[in-house]
Amino acid sequence: MASAASSRRTGSTGRPPRVAVIGGGHNGLTAAAYLARAGVEVTVLERLPHPGGAAVSTDGFAGLDARLSRYSYLVSLMPKQIIDDLGLDVRLARRRYSSYTPLPDALLRGPAASGRRPGLLIDAGDEAATRASFAAIGAASDADGFASFSDRTTRLAASLFPTLTRPLPTAAAAREAAGGASAWSEIVDAPISDAIERAVDHDLVRGVIATDALIGTFAALDDPGLEQNRCLLYHVIGGGTGDWDVPIGGMGRVSGGLEAAARAAGASIITGVTVTRVTPDGEVTWEERIGGLPLESAGLPTGTELTAQFDLVLSAVAPHVLARLLGDEAPATERPEGAQVKVNMLLRRLPRLRDDVSSEAAFGGTFHINEAYSQLGAAHASASGGGIPAPLPCEIYCHSLTDPTILGDELRASGAHTLTVFGLHVPDRLLTSENNERMRAELERAALASLDSVLAEPIEPLLLEGVGGAGRAIETKTTRDIEEALAMPGGNIFHGPLSWPWLEAEPESPAAAWGVETAHPRVLLAGSGARRGGAVSGIGGHNAAHAALELLAERL
Ligand SMILES: Cc1cc2nc3c(=O)[nH]c(=O)nc-3n(C[C@H](O)[C@H](O)[C@H](O)COP(=O)(O)OP(=O)(O)OC[C@H]3O[C@@H](n4cnc5c(N)ncnc54)[C@H](O)[C@@H]3O)c2cc1C
Repeated sequence: MASAASSRRTGSTGRPPRVAVIGGGHNGLTAAAYLARAGVEVTVLERLPHPGGAAVSTDGFAGLDARLSRYSYLVSLMPKQIIDDLGLDVRLARRRYSSYTPLPDALLRGPAASGRRPGLLIDAGDEAATRASFAAIGAASDADGFASFSDRTTRLAASLFPTLTRPLPTAAAAREAAGGASAWSEIVDAPISDAIERAVDHDLVRGVIATDALIGTFAALDDPGLEQNRCLLYHVIGGGTGDWDVPIGGMGRVSGGLEAAARAAGASIITGVTVTRVTPDGEVTWEERIGGLPLESAGLPTGTELTAQFDLVLSAVAPHVLARLLGDEAPATERPEGAQVKVNMLLRRLPRLRDDVSSEAAFGGTFHINEAYSQLGAAHASASGGGIPAPLPCEIYCHSLTDPTILGDELRASGAHTLTVFGLHVPDRLLTSENNERMRAELERAALASLDSVLAEPIEPLLLEGVGGAGRAIETKTTRDIEEALAMPGGNIFHGPLSWPWLEAEPESPAAAWGVETAHPRVLLAGSGARRGGAVSGIGGHNAAHAALELLAERL
């Protein structure tokens, strides 16, 4: 700390510039680390008792030695540059199997030759096996179309991904840099359903591509608003390849590394405090709370509200939350809406499969369940009509196959495994604070039923039991639960709708150039809600820190 303080930059006022970061999620920590390393006096204010936000691990199953990534679980968009700049001890493992998708009953044409059912295995390590798998589900002619769509998005990724940590390009410059990447017009100019239907024919193959457009996003694939296109774009450009990697040790290691980097550089991280007010000129008010409750409700003395003046405020909370803190009566951003249910499980062993595929292959990548194109369309229609989709489209994945370090020795030796389920098309509009408990139970049942529909045995009996009557090792989080736990409005996992990673016109300020501007020059976005900030990437924090340093250099 002393060395960081002594190397602090001072402005014309003779003191180091002061910056508040509201929200200690991984983006707030990233911003804090960059700013503190540049000699800025940084204070991070986080309402939970610990930093990390949605990028944390938990040992939530009593007596079971397993640290599951509680919310986010895979990393694609975190640039190596951020890991290197901040000297983070973050290791990411590449998955050999990209995805496995069983053929739903409705698409099965007669019994398979082997007697076991076929499914589509995308095996990055074996092109011939992948082709054979296309043939096995009756989609041999789609193998080329699928590979070619993937090549086109990879070319686009190669030109776009490096721009995410630089000032925003204009749309024209980004389009020119994409050169011959025809994925640009496929993704940017028309609903993604057009491109998918042109690229491949088989219902299941179309669904595998389409799910990238629907993670945390409630939209029809042919929606002219193109929110689903932006969602797909961010899902296919990460790292310049679109690969989704496993953070070794779990998501908590990513935030833990960022927290350590921020603290080592001298940032002050205050947890258990809720920011209640921000003024456009940089005054921030916060209250000490316990478990999100005011101290008085715990019988403790009040008078713990603090106010301080900062040169800049970086908001790493959702733009909708910031609007309330600024007292905007009619916030510029509508309350966003999430659309997922998340289920974490700890199993005695992986379930037996009905299909002709090994467990390592099926569970080692993203296992799509009931996500054929027609099923995704039907699920969207059913949720639009107010119902829980049946079957619920889900993706599951087993962290402990790629990275067993999240399990204690005994569990590991016993053959236990984690399973993470991300259910699609459950818009927050289906939930209320009154029905949340019932909906959580119904959604859990829907997710388990969806899984059972493709397994050779029911999954529930495989759940481990926590000790001391703690119950089964399963945790289900609805959008309401996510909002309550993390203050993500509507449970929207990206803090709001995603934006294109470019500008239509030349920017007029450093904040606009970095995609972090608000209506107030002293207040910048630094979280997922910043342009290009969605997902676990640190990009929102990185870009806000760079804009802040430019602004501070101008002002002090
Ligand atoms: C269920 C789920 C699954 C996901 N899966 C993935 C995935 O696999 N891969 C991926 O890349 N992304 C995933 N995401 C998205 C990703 O986790 C988020 O986009 C990202 O973590 C957001 O980081 P952040 O730092 O911007 O904000 P957050 O993580 O939301 O952190 C914001 C912090 O601000 C705090 N805060 C809020 N209000 C206040 C206040 N008034 N005062 C003080 N503090 C406040 C909150 O407590 C929180 O800690 C997932 C998200 C969810 C919820």
